[in-house]
Amino acid sequence: MLSDGVFDRRRQRLVDQMREHGISDERVLAAIGSTHRHRFVEKAFRPRAYEDEALPIGMKQTISQPFTVAYQTMLLDVQPGDRILEVGTGSGYQAAVLCEMGARVFSIERHRPLLARTRDLLASLGYRVALKTGDGTLGWASQAPFDGVVITAGASEAPETLLRQLRIEGEDDKPAGRLVAPVGNRETQTMWLYRRLAEDRYEKTASRQFKFVPLIGQQGGL
Ligand code: SAH
Repeated sequence: MLSDGVFDRRRQRLVDQMREHGISDERVLAAIGSTHRHRFVEKAFRPRAYEDEALPIGMKQTISQPFTVAYQTMLLDVQPGDRILEVGTGSGYQAAVLCEMGARVFSIERHRPLLARTRDLLASLGYRVALKTGDGTLGWASQAPFDGVVITAGASEAPETLLRQLRIEGEDDKPAGRLVAPVGNRETQTMWLYRRLAEDRYEKTASRQFKFVPLIGQQGGL
């Protein structure tokens, strides 16, 4: 059995590594530093919980690599109190990191048994996340608009419905809503950041390449 102290030291090393790899937002680094990733993986994988790698969580799904979580969170530019929708709850780790950033988190997962397990885990760790089973590409209309939407599975395109659930810049005197989504094919995806500047106007920026498990859904599925 590894002690809490060992996990604490490994987590701090992971934070240093994220900083070296280009995560420059100190608030994101602090959130990675305070989220106990070893609680979000199966016991057998706990010794590897603070290595920068994706790990299996059952049902052919994975908990994303820490760098990927930090990178998507940095692009989302989360401010305390922001309403953030996550598509693909999986282990709940990304949702917990968003909670640590002070966001109000909504998250959708298509695998019901996976979500049931994650719901219990998040509650036991004291994270308050609104969770729902279903096709996240259709968003969560009753809770829109969102300050941020993050897709944690690989998409063929940014789902139109999700873009339309973003806050329009200036609404309630707030900045433009952001959508962060890996878009590409089954082998590789490019990370895209969309900002909703007006009803039908978005600013789009592409950055690095990643490899996610596929998004399965009505819009933007792979
Ligand atoms: N954010 C997760 C990553 C999980 S992997 C974490 O931190 O662990 C991506 C997840 O997206 C998988 O659990 C998969 O079942 C889910 N998924 C794929 N397509 C989906 C869709 N259309 N709606 C909701 N969840 C989806």
